[in-house]
Order: sequence, then structure tokens, then C-alpha cells
Amino acid sequence: MRILFWLALFVVVILALKKKVQTVASPAREQQAPPPSAGKPARDAEAMVCCAACQVYIPASEAVYKGQQVYCSTEHAEQAGAR
Ligand SMILES: [Zn+2]
Repeated sequence: MRILFWLALFVVVILALKKKVQTVASPAREQQAPPPSAGKPARDAEAMVCCAACQVYIPASEAVYKGQQVYCSTEHAEQAGAR
């Protein structure tokens, strides 16, 4: 029965060594393939603007523009304009 234990241990060691070889070999594989994000403009990263009334940052496409100022909502734009 004891030999089964050693056999199992041997298999585990072999599997561990195989895993180690794979992790060592993988960085070389990654170097060959170009990184997917390289050279591509970050389209997801939208410009953020700061609301002049509450200083909250919002995406530029959702901002409300009033004159030179940028606001997070029409409410803040009107609030600031009334003042
Ligand atoms: Zn605001």
C-alpha cells in the first residue's frame, strides 16, 4: 500500500514540474504576440469635465455647456446663471 503513496507523490511532482515549465515558457509566447492595446487609441476613456457649481466630474458628452462654464446638469447651469 505504501508504494501507492509514493506513486501518487511522484505523479504530483511531475505535474508540478510540468506546470512550472509552462509558466516559464509563457512569457516568451506573450512577447511574440503584440499587446492588443498597443497603438490603439483608448476609445473608452472619455474626457472628464468638472461641474462649475458642484465640482463633480462628469463625461464631456453628458456635460451641460453654458458660456465658458461646464455643468453636470441643467439645474446647476441655471442655478449658477441666476446667481
Ligand atoms: Zn453640478
